[in-house]
Amino acid sequence: SIILGIETSCDETAVAVVKNGHEILSNVVASQIESHKRFGGVVPEIASRHHVEQITVVLEEALRQADVTLQDIDAIAVTEGPGLVGALLIGVNAAKAVAFAHGIPLVGVHHIAGHIYANRLITEMKFPLLSLVVSGGHTELVYMEKHGSFEVIGETRDDAAGEAYDKVARTLSLPYPGGPHIDRLAHEGQPVLGLPRAWLEPDSYDFSFSGLKSAVINAVHNAKQRGEVIAPEDLAASFQDSVIDVLVTKTVKAAAEYGVKQVLLAGGVAANKGLRNRLQEAFSPMQNIELVIPPLSLCTDNAAMIAAAGTILYSQGKRANLALNANPGLDLEC
Ligand code: ATP
Ligand code: MG
Ligand code: FE
Repeated sequence: SIILGIETSCDETAVAVVKNGHEILSNVVASQIESHKRFGGVVPEIASRHHVEQITVVLEEALRQADVTLQDIDAIAVTEGPGLVGALLIGVNAAKAVAFAHGIPLVGVHHIAGHIYANRLITEMKFPLLSLVVSGGHTELVYMEKHGSFEVIGETRDDAAGEAYDKVARTLSLPYPGGPHIDRLAHEGQPVLGLPRAWLEPDSYDFSFSGLKSAVINAVHNAKQRGEVIAPEDLAASFQDSVIDVLVTKTVKAAAEYGVKQVLLAGGVAANKGLRNRLQEAFSPMQNIELVIPPLSLCTDNAAMIAAAGTILYSQGKRANLALNANPGLDLEC
């Protein structure tokens, strides 16, 4: 099958063409980061406007690079949620318009299912599996017994990992999005600060990052009052060490408890070098569990991952009609 994927949930206008669920024929991403940077975060109204301007251009470019026409497309997979409602609507309406005009089947995809299925673009999925989803809006451990079945066994109770990264970066006056900057700095410093780790209840796979974020802000503030400066590298290293420690420990524990065959890393924070290294170290001695880490370009938002997830849903018979609507609070488990 040849699936066209469309993703506009946040600040990337993305369209991709994927063959047989794993072969990327094209994967075009128009990022709006430059437009949002000066506001220190994504401005929903600006995001929607950019999507409107970009969607047709990006769609045509994706078809051109894939060397296909709409006649070759078996189905259109589009992110229906979660995300910014105004941003989602542009992708959903574009998908509906093209599907209706050309009589192409339509499939709605959950954005986080897309992040998880980015892994399907590099390898076959082996069930049962566990996915650590770490992104700008989500931090979750997702158990999958089979294709299309998602059970959230743990999630953040406050900030998402990416959100914590971006807020700490802001405290250090680093540009948005701050995750990659903290990651880079962390490798130049030492985790000397001994920041807290929120383990929560011993049997919980939930996460919490707001206390850690406050601890960083307090450390910076207190040092300032004493007329001292904490080296930003050490602060970044300490913060990153704390985040990764909890993420990796809980993932390893859950993988063992649930007896999974594979662990898939997913989401924008999956681009983090420290996290990738520590997961590799943790899982290399566990020979019965395969750790899969997508390349950087498939970690952050893209439409190839939406097409990959859409391929499975399409093959399972899932179809949307023209009543398909953007759903900013869409549930992964339903
Ligand atoms: P969601 O997927 O939850 O809807 P989103 O789509 O906005 O949110 P993604 O695009 O998946 O989020 O990821 C963006 C996040 O990833 C940002 O918070 C960014 O700072 C973070 N990020 C990107 N690269 C790195 C890195 N190397 N280290 C840490 N964080 C990173
Ligand atoms: Mg983004
Ligand atoms: Fe995302």
